[in-house]
Amino acid sequence: MFKKILIANRGEIAVRIIRACREMGILTVAVYSEGDKDSFHAQLADEAVCIGPNSPKDSYLNIQNIISATVLTGAEAIHPGFGFLSENPKFAAICEECNIKFIGPSKECIENMGDKAKAREIMKESKVPVVPGFEGIIEGEEHLKKEGKAIGYPLMLKAVSGGGGKGIRIVRSEEEIVKAYNTAKSEANLSFGDDRIYIEKYIENPHHIEFQIMGDDFGNIVHLGERDCSIQRNNQKVLEEAPSTLLSEDLRKTMGEIAIKAAKAVGYNSVGTIEFLVDDNNDFYFMEMNTRIQVEHPITEMISNIDIVKEQIKIADGESLSITQSEVELKGHAIECRINAENPSKNYMPCPGTISYLIMPGGNGIRIDSSVYEGYKIPPFYDSMIAKLIAYGKDRDEAIMKMKRALLEFVIEGVDNNIELHFNILNNEDFIKGNYNTSFLRDKLVNKL
Ligand code: ADP
Ligand code: ADP
Ligand code: MG
Repeated sequence: MFKKILIANRGEIAVRIIRACREMGILTVAVYSEGDKDSFHAQLADEAVCIGPNSPKDSYLNIQNIISATVLTGAEAIHPGFGFLSENPKFAAICEECNIKFIGPSKECIENMGDKAKAREIMKESKVPVVPGFEGIIEGEEHLKKEGKAIGYPLMLKAVSGGGGKGIRIVRSEEEIVKAYNTAKSEANLSFGDDRIYIEKYIENPHHIEFQIMGDDFGNIVHLGERDCSIQRNNQKVLEEAPSTLLSEDLRKTMGEIAIKAAKAVGYNSVGTIEFLVDDNNDFYFMEMNTRIQVEHPITEMISNIDIVKEQIKIADGESLSITQSEVELKGHAIECRINAENPSKNYMPCPGTISYLIMPGGNGIRIDSSVYEGYKIPPFYDSMIAKLIAYGKDRDEAIMKMKRALLEFVIEGVDNNIELHFNILNNEDFIKGNYNTSFLRDKLVNKL
């Protein structure tokens, strides 16, 4: 097993990975930007190396400095976390050239699945149902209008390299399409340095259901069930739960098998997630694969009793999966609330600043993955997510009650946050009945706050 791992990330996910390493007896190296000097992840690791100024491109995306830090500290592997370099095939290739193990799938897997248009093609060839759309990249305005007409409205323009809900636009009619195309293109260029756009049919009021996958170097692949991530704002997840109230045992089995088939099509050899959209008729479509650890992995850990980060590290070290599909046992219900430093009543304006007073909830069934502490100054340069609050119960009702209880205990002063929004979601009658889809927040809650 690796003796030392460098974590090329920050915040709660860096802390999460350091914790797994420590329990496995592995030493850790944190990297941090100048503004993150006092951050919890840098304090918690066995060693910490500054990799540059605050701007992500100069620090957490600075491949040269991250590789230098790895060589300098003698770490044998890099865990990329999520975001930043986690889905960058060039980074995975450079690690390989430098004899550093990249803790993730092969660079070919990242290449094939990270390009969303290419992934759609591969899935179609493998007989995995994909969202209807155009297989390829849009080349200019005439092409755009032609393909738009062929697919029909409403449709979605999506960035080939997209992630985090960015570079996506709904288009309801031909009059809107050119403007939407240009804004999606510039957003994609700004966020991903890649302005290629593809088109999908817009699925009305869908459910976002994703399957957690684990594969090893020996061709074994299992799934750990699904997560329902339909509570979203602007195509970004806000609250997730596992299992989904939508899926019958039969549908779960069918979708799980298709998810494994999708992962097998690219020889997937790490932990990852297959994301689907499910419509009102329970028809489901492959949307994308995330070839990395997912933000909401803890809810699957709670119901499966499997530490997904430890499994990911063991797979990278060449071990075979510790579990077969028939040994996977899912039990109980888990919910995750993403606690963000933002103001829901001011159009979710991010609110960096100093946390002047903090009480974190605890008790039976409550887990917090976070990197903040009282007196910590949230920098304005990165994501606004500051904590993940996870509740586990023997069933959904119990998980909801525990989450509500924990949200009431949670006190964050000094920065605006979305704790109250989560409380309102959990008190909503439709949510309680499990009667919600991806338009829930927009239609049923945000407009009524
Ligand atoms: P998840 O799919 O795990 O729920 P999110 O979509 O919420 O994750 O993204 C998690 C973090 O990673 C966010 O900070 C997001 O901006 C970032 N991220 C995700 N995909 C990409 C990408 N392709 N490029 C850059 N950042 C990304
Ligand atoms: P990202 O890489 O940013 O996570 P996704 O392709 O996973 O992008 O899409 C993010 C979200 O956008 C989905 O969870 C869903 O709510 C919405 N979405 C994406 N594609 C469609 C579609 N074809 N029809 C309806 N909603 C969609
Ligand atoms: Mg996605």
